[in-house]
Amino acid sequence: MSKELKGLGVGLTAAVGTVHVVAPAQALPAWGKSTIGAEAEATRLKGAIAAVSANLDELASRSDETTAEIFEALKMLLEDDELFEVAEGYLAEGSDAAGAIGQAVNEFGELLGGDPDFEARVADLQDLSRRVQANLAGIAVGLELPQTGQIILVGEDFSPADTAQFTPAVVGVITRAGGPTSHTAIICRARSIAAVVSVPDAFSLENGATVLVDPVGDRVVVGGTVSDATAALTFIDTDEEPIIPVRSNIGTAADAVVAAKTKANGVGLFRTELLYLSASTAPSVDQQAASYAEVLAAAPTGPIVVRTIDAGSDKPVPFLNMPHEENPSLGVRGFRLIVEHRQFIIDQLTSLEAARKQTGREVWVMAPMIATVDEAAEFANLARSIGSFKVGIMIETPAISMQVDRLQGVVDFVSIGTNDLSQYLFAADRMNPALGALLNPWQPGLIRMLAKIGADGAAAGVSVGVCGESASDPAFAVVLAGLGITSVSASPSQVNIVTNALASVTAEQAKEVAAAALAGTDAASAKANVLAALAKF
Ligand code: PEP
Ligand code: MG
Repeated sequence: MSKELKGLGVGLTAAVGTVHVVAPAQALPAWGKSTIGAEAEATRLKGAIAAVSANLDELASRSDETTAEIFEALKMLLEDDELFEVAEGYLAEGSDAAGAIGQAVNEFGELLGGDPDFEARVADLQDLSRRVQANLAGIAVGLELPQTGQIILVGEDFSPADTAQFTPAVVGVITRAGGPTSHTAIICRARSIAAVVSVPDAFSLENGATVLVDPVGDRVVVGGTVSDATAALTFIDTDEEPIIPVRSNIGTAADAVVAAKTKANGVGLFRTELLYLSASTAPSVDQQAASYAEVLAAAPTGPIVVRTIDAGSDKPVPFLNMPHEENPSLGVRGFRLIVEHRQFIIDQLTSLEAARKQTGREVWVMAPMIATVDEAAEFANLARSIGSFKVGIMIETPAISMQVDRLQGVVDFVSIGTNDLSQYLFAADRMNPALGALLNPWQPGLIRMLAKIGADGAAAGVSVGVCGESASDPAFAVVLAGLGITSVSASPSQVNIVTNALASVTAEQAKEVAAAALAGTDAASAKANVLAALAKF
């Protein structure tokens, strides 16, 4: 039997190629104390940042439009004044330039770590920091991949600067680290490169070996051929309407611009806290209104669902000065902040109403981390007293999942955050890579919970969207539609494929697919049942 390595598949098509192991980058020199003084170190650091920025410009000029936008965003991260100020603090304490940028980025990383979206930005920042340090030490960083052939890249993980150097020869990617929301996963999905991430034994693969990358089967098969691949689905690119609207998740105005180039019907989740990650003082109502107006104006046509600040736990927001908690994911996060920070939530809603009026866009607002019907009512009353919004809540806790029928007349809509709902349903920390199997959306426990929420929402006349990562999987999106979910919201890179999947089935067929999912007794059989059911249509 051929050797098989398990991991987490990304995308729907398999590939066979020759293993090309990317050796870990040359070690960077240890940080030291400055021997030339803070001012001279600052000049060196500025020079290195400028060189890395110029390199990002060059990579952007060789990339497609979407990747070029990623480089533009990275440049902004690298050239951030606040980051340089923090680095200057370390220079003043005697660090050398490499130590100053390294420590400044670590400080930002600690502040931002947690949520998958923030984690991706932290990983980007760390990569930029390594590039600046490599430049300071005169170490070259580059992948040097062949232009022709069919190679399967094997590495720890790949940064945006790495993926920009992928040549047409790269048909598959295997990483030891990274998860379903890593940059590698996002890029491979967007470019239809077969990928399996989070493969603990990735480095047991030998250069030159022929392997099958089988994302649908969540595995890599040494010596495998394409005919061994788990049935892969393709969805035809069509102009037909999907059976339920497919919206986009966004966090910034740049995301809104990208989403507007997809088939997205509006925005299903605007994570507002992404605008405040590095703000040390609370933004004023005018400042917020201006940022929201920019996002609303750029967003794809359709309603825009804005989530009020979801700080706490894995999303620290500096200006809220939140106290340390023993168990922050079970602590004061999301809407629970209303007790200490009511004025900030009022200011957000006030700014949103101003931006809504200024742009003429249809704005829906929702609160995160709701556990009781009383909390839902409190938010709904507050939001309606401030603006002309449709009002809703996120369903992220088992407690509110069990009371969707009681939301009739209280809210207009709910949106299920499957990332957190899985975490709380399975008592499994979403940031713990060891618990990935429990957080797999194909787990029957989650699918049954989603079925209940869909049915209770339909009976109560409350529309039920899903905006967690699970909705970015086209096959899972069909299951959701079949369970009575009335809209999904996916990451911008997945909007088109999810739309195509939902345009390729009828509502009746989606119900059959959902029944196949519900018949699965574990995650693997639920997924296999669904792929088999979809393959019939
Ligand atoms: C979720 O929990 O599924 C969600 C969409 O919110 P976030 O990932 O921002 O916590
Ligand atoms: Mg959440």
